Amino acid sequence: MTSSADASYIALSGGVGGAKLALGLCDVLENPGRLTVVTNTGDDFEHLGLKVCPDLDTLTYTLAGLANLETGWGRAGESGAFMEALGALGGETWFFLGDKDLAIHVERTRRLRAGESLSTVTSDLCARLGIEARIVPMSDDPVPTVVETEDGPLAFQHYFVRERCRPKVLGFRHEGAEQARASSGFLDALAAPDLGAVIVCPSNPYISIDPILAVPGVRDALAACEAPVIAVSPIIGGEAVKGPTAKMMAERGIAPSALAIAEHYAGLIDGFVLDEADRAEAAGIAATGVAVEVTATMMTAREEKQALSRAVLAFANRRGAAR
Ligand code: GDP
Repeated sequence: MTSSADASYIALSGGVGGAKLALGLCDVLENPGRLTVVTNTGDDFEHLGLKVCPDLDTLTYTLAGLANLETGWGRAGESGAFMEALGALGGETWFFLGDKDLAIHVERTRRLRAGESLSTVTSDLCARLGIEARIVPMSDDPVPTVVETEDGPLAFQHYFVRERCRPKVLGFRHEGAEQARASSGFLDALAAPDLGAVIVCPSNPYISIDPILAVPGVRDALAACEAPVIAVSPIIGGEAVKGPTAKMMAERGIAPSALAIAEHYAGLIDGFVLDEADRAEAAGIAATGVAVEVTATMMTAREEKQALSRAVLAFANRRGAAR
């Protein structure tokens, strides 16, 4: 048994890296219904008249067993007839929306326009797809990420997809964060008396986790919560497994390493999980005042996701007992 069946858990997550760990956690927790995956909505945008929430969708598809494992985003067995037809009409095709994937955006947009919250819509769609864990947006208020680049400020998806992360990054803004309120699902999970751990998934710290931390009250709630806060490194051997994390670090003058990730979360976390490839950094990370766990963190196979999840939960339980 890796965890107490009674404990609840929170995972803070972006898209791809976060969803891999969330899937492993769902597999190994005795009761996946006690896992709340708090999801970044800084990537959300309005496109072709539809509200698109890439990280919520990656998590939803992954936990529902519908994800395209090759691309890491979108649905398996997807087709692109809509995109092709749109292109022929001169419409915008830089952001691919598959034929099946369109359904979630259309249905979400319809319900949001009818006045429902993003939390309610997400929870209903997840229930429809048979997902046991609770996937909750960090906030029901918009907090769009703006990437400050050498080419000027870019809306997140313009930077990420349209420009393919090419422009050099100078910084990030989380627009509207000051006025945003954490979602009630997030607040309830944080306040749960049986909270066993908060797990910061191996997601991009700048564009996936920082937007969650920018929501007022979240940093304080994490600092005040009695459960251990454990982060898993998204950097292995000085490189990101996927995506622009290492590129963004280098462009901002930070050498990409597990240590730099641990330093980024200093003051927030009690424990840090890094890969065996980076074992040499363990002592330096421990010197920042956090407990350290070294294990295999590459999650390609399902068994690897499960093994890392077991290691993270066991580490969290030890940290919890030591407090
Ligand atoms: P995005 O929102 O889709 O960009 O996804 P995330 O922010 O959740 O994840 C991106 C990060 O996940 C990158 O920094 C990757 O290095 C990291 N990542 C992806 N797969 C793995 C993995 O198998 N193991 C670890 N440790 N990190 C991973």
